[in-house]
Amino acid sequence: MPSPRVGSKVTGARHSSAPFMTLAPGFNLKRCPQCGVAAPNLVPRHKYEVSPDRMAFFLSCASCMLPTTVLTNLFLQPLAWWPEPKTYSQDIPQKPRKSLDEARAALSTPSLSIVGSARAIDYMLKERGYKGDESLFRRIAAAADDHVITQDMKEWADEVRRESNIERHADDDAPDATIEDAERVLKFAEALAELLFELPARVKRGRTQPNE
Ligand SMILES: [Zn+2]
Repeated sequence: MPSPRVGSKVTGARHSSAPFMTLAPGFNLKRCPQCGVAAPNLVPRHKYEVSPDRMAFFLSCASCMLPTTVLTNLFLQPLAWWPEPKTYSQDIPQKPRKSLDEARAALSTPSLSIVGSARAIDYMLKERGYKGDESLFRRIAAAADDHVITQDMKEWADEVRRESNIERHADDDAPDATIEDAERVLKFAEALAELLFELPARVKRGRTQPNE
């Protein structure tokens, strides 16, 4: 494995010799914005002066290899990130929010991530009164029958169930879950969180705030 200590290479681009090794924590990136891995090894690849008081840094994650760009001031304090580090809304109750965080952080271990997403979906359904021993997907269907979620959401859930390994990954004969499977389930869980908690909270806030 090559050392991520590539400061000399990057600073070859005529700019100041910033302490590159300390960049990831300094940029407030506790997780890779692309794959969600915790304590990411974000290797600096390139930097340039955007303006006299702004710098841009291109980092690539040693886990997913995908790039993240950080805009900073001259003191290397981050001003913006692309993509933005993902944090889930405080409108989502704590238990499902924590499970979503875990599912996202585990994307590079797909079967673990799928367990986290399934747990998040389970918590969300329970919050809305869909408890019991029935499978997640039966409870999703019940929520659709009650118009708590739309029919489209239910159809999406059916697709997720078919296309991902969500119910098969405990089976020895089933193929291993892929990152795509894990992303598919997480995306559905995120949409469910938005629909069940974030949108209603945003609507409520919008209605209680006086017109500007
Ligand atoms: Zn990554």
